[in-house]
Amino acid sequence: MQLLKDRILSEGIVLNDSILKVDSFLNHQIDPQLMLAIGQEFARQFKHKNIQRILTIEAAGIAVALSTALVMHVPLVFAKKGVSQLMCETSYQAPVHSFTKNICNNVSVIKKFLPPKENILIIDDFLAHGQAVLGLANIIEQAGSNVSGVGIVIEKSFQNGATLIREKGYDLHSLACIREFQNNTVILD
Ligand code: 5GP
Repeated sequence: MQLLKDRILSEGIVLNDSILKVDSFLNHQIDPQLMLAIGQEFARQFKHKNIQRILTIEAAGIAVALSTALVMHVPLVFAKKGVSQLMCETSYQAPVHSFTKNICNNVSVIKKFLPPKENILIIDDFLAHGQAVLGLANIIEQAGSNVSGVGIVIEKSFQNGATLIREKGYDLHSLACIREFQNNTVILD
C-alpha cells in the first residue's frame, strides 16, 4: 500500500535494530484519513472471507481495527491487557509476551463478545514475533470460532512472526513489509 509505505519512509524513526517508531500517524498521533484508507484496503483483501467480527489487542491496534470494522460493517472487539474490576464476567484468556515492553500480559475477552462459530479477522498494527496474533488466535479458538485472516499494518519480515503465523495455516496480509533496517533507515520490500 503505497500511501502507507511513503509515510513509513518519510516519518518512521528507527529506534534500534528491531523497533520502528511511527508515532506521528499510528501509535500516538493518529491520521484518520490514513486509518480509513487502511481499513478500505483490509476490507478489499478479506472481502471473500465472510468476516463476521474483528478482534484486536489494546491499545495500538484499535484505531486501524475500528476503521476496518466500519468499512466491513462488522463489530470490533479488543482484548484487554491486565486485570480490571470491570472484567468481572467470565472471559477467555491467553498469555501474550509484549515485544516492546518485554513483559508478559494475560489478555482477556469477555465470553459474550465472542460467540462461537464465527469467521473472525485479527487486525494489529505491527507484526514482530507473532505473540500478540497467536494470543488472539488462541482466544478465538477457545471461543470455537475460526481465524479467517490476519491483517497487519507493518510487518517486520526479518523477525519470525510471519513464518509462525503462516505455519499455523492462517491467511496473513501485511500492508507494508520491512525487509531490514540499514544504517537507521527502513528498507521496505
Ligand atoms: P509481536 O507480538 O508480533 O512480537 O509484536 C507485535 C506487537 O508489539 C504489536 O501489537 C505492537 O504494538 C508491538 N510492536 C512490535 N514491534 C513494534 C515496532 O517496531 N514498533 C512499534 N511501535 N510497536 C511494535
